[in-house]
Amino acid sequence: MNQLVIKGSLLIDGTGRPPVEKGAVRIAGDRIAAVGPENEIGSPAGLPVVDCGDQVLIPGMIDCHSHLSMDPTQENWPARLNDSDAEQALRAVNNLAVDLKAGITTARSLGDRNFLDVVCKKAVESGKLLGPRLLVATRGIRATHGHGMVGYPFDGPDAVRRAVRENIKAGADVIKLFITGTVRTGPELPCYPSEQEIAVAIEEAHRAGLRTAAHCIGGKGFEICLAAGLDCFEHGYFLTDREIELLLKSDRWLDLTPSPFFTEERIQTLPKEIADAFRKDRDEVARRMQVILRSGVKFVAGTDGMHGELAQELDYLVRYGASESQALAAVTRNASAVLGLEETVGTLEAGKFADIVGVQGNPLKDIRALKKVRTVISRGKLFSPQP
Ligand SMILES: [Zn+2]
Repeated sequence: MNQLVIKGSLLIDGTGRPPVEKGAVRIAGDRIAAVGPENEIGSPAGLPVVDCGDQVLIPGMIDCHSHLSMDPTQENWPARLNDSDAEQALRAVNNLAVDLKAGITTARSLGDRNFLDVVCKKAVESGKLLGPRLLVATRGIRATHGHGMVGYPFDGPDAVRRAVRENIKAGADVIKLFITGTVRTGPELPCYPSEQEIAVAIEEAHRAGLRTAAHCIGGKGFEICLAAGLDCFEHGYFLTDREIELLLKSDRWLDLTPSPFFTEERIQTLPKEIADAFRKDRDEVARRMQVILRSGVKFVAGTDGMHGELAQELDYLVRYGASESQALAAVTRNASAVLGLEETVGTLEAGKFADIVGVQGNPLKDIRALKKVRTVISRGKLFSPQP
């Protein structure tokens, strides 16, 4: 069995316990055997040691909102989602390698074309493809007239029920619904699927033991989803005070994805009209995010397909009021809970998967340290730097 010890100047295990000076992790196979101060973890003579020097060790990060074949840095990237399957698969292969190198060892993909995500997930699991462990939604479910670039249209409760069942049969781990658009087009935020369609999708997913996530920026669709038992709200850009209050009371999760409104690199590649719609509401989204982050709502974070840039999402969250420890939890411990993987990933604890990242700097003092990933260990294997 592969065994090694990894050492850093500081170890943040992600549980919320204080960081450990001169921390180390002993790895056996793909699991963590021991975590603690370097001189206490026990290291049988002859065990290989990876000394990360002044790096800080943290749990492998989790992107709660990805799309495998999306690349928002490409010109008119929404149109590229209609590329051939082969082109999309090649992009996904590249994106997954970028993610892993950026310290993302687990990702939840919330909608991809033609079940490409299931193929990628299996290829990562079997070791054929380099990338984070994946939880996948397969086809996003949207109404014909609704938004959802990676969604497929299904109309009527029967069609929605069938779509959910087909997704599950094809290998979906989570069911993704598209409720609203992403930018505001008028004073009222539309809710595209009917109340009955939303309820059927969530009921069908839950009965099969799957969780649900919904693209929802606010409006009447928010309350419908809440009442129907939705597990995780995605984006929430325009949640009102009242909606935030309801979310807080419900104890449900919000997955924050700031970059679509704040990262010019992904906005300038959009057709001008759409790009301007994002820019127009940037300040309003910033204000709403500040209210959300002050409210005590439980949140995680995702890139929405901006591969390799999860740390940038956290930079925004800290800028708008999250503490560094909240931001780190949003991509480690809390993210693992949202994915239902809290027993196996999200913290550095004995028995969990050996997903460990070494960063330059202490992210609890400056979250931007997460942009400086130097070492990535995924399932006990050292990927970067190469051994
Ligand atoms: Zn998305």
